[in-house]
Amino acid sequence: MMVNFGGIVDISTVDYPDKVSSVVFLRGCNFRCPFCYNVDLVDGPSQEVEVDFIVDSIKKNNLIDAVVITGGEPALQSDALFELCSKFKQCGLLVKVDTNGSFPQVIKNLIDNKLVDYVALDFKSAIHPVHYGKVTGVPSATIPVRVKETLNILASSRIDYECRCPIVPGLNDDPDVLRQQAHDVLPSKVFVLEQFTPDKGTLDPNLKAEKVSADRLNEYAKFFRNYAVKVRSYDYGEKVHLSCGCD
Ligand code: SF4
Repeated sequence: MMVNFGGIVDISTVDYPDKVSSVVFLRGCNFRCPFCYNVDLVDGPSQEVEVDFIVDSIKKNNLIDAVVITGGEPALQSDALFELCSKFKQCGLLVKVDTNGSFPQVIKNLIDNKLVDYVALDFKSAIHPVHYGKVTGVPSATIPVRVKETLNILASSRIDYECRCPIVPGLNDDPDVLRQQAHDVLPSKVFVLEQFTPDKGTLDPNLKAEKVSADRLNEYAKFFRNYAVKVRSYDYGEKVHLSCGCD
């Protein structure tokens, strides 16, 4: 089977929690997030390869415990994603999939077939067409509903997962929207706030958003105090706020 392929990072210590992994990038995405820095993966030309080309490359690497499949949006290529996950599991590897959440049945199918061990779900704003359309660049009433459906599938499964959100000034940092988002992200137990930095360029070249300081992210983390909140920044890596809801 062919897959629209973006590349491989052979070794990563940050993409699968507590594991050494390889990272496989798939091309194409159904979102147009203005802040996206994977511009080539989203809008670049296709590069079709056989699934086995990727699997054979990964198999040669005996330093890894896990493989992370990311994008773009990997669930857009549901059949190829299924085959990749199957073959990585046959190799004895842990499999993590990063998703924007808009293909709940694709993720459910992987879980039901025991082909994924960890899912990182983008949860980019409050579950509302206006807020979600602003941050994804795709006006749609159904996308936020599908993201929430993906979260509910993960929450009722036995696999590990996290919800994560890059905070982008002007797009999803309004305090009232963040409060609503904190409500909507239930029943997730883990929420990761990520640092937006425009250094790598953005899908919308006219986006004027500034880098968010780690201090500001820590302030925003207080909105999510009912969860185990993590702040992930380029400034100091990952900081865990284990909140009790009482500060
Ligand atoms: S940031 Fe948005 S546009 Fe970019 S790959 Fe992720 S979901 Fe797609």
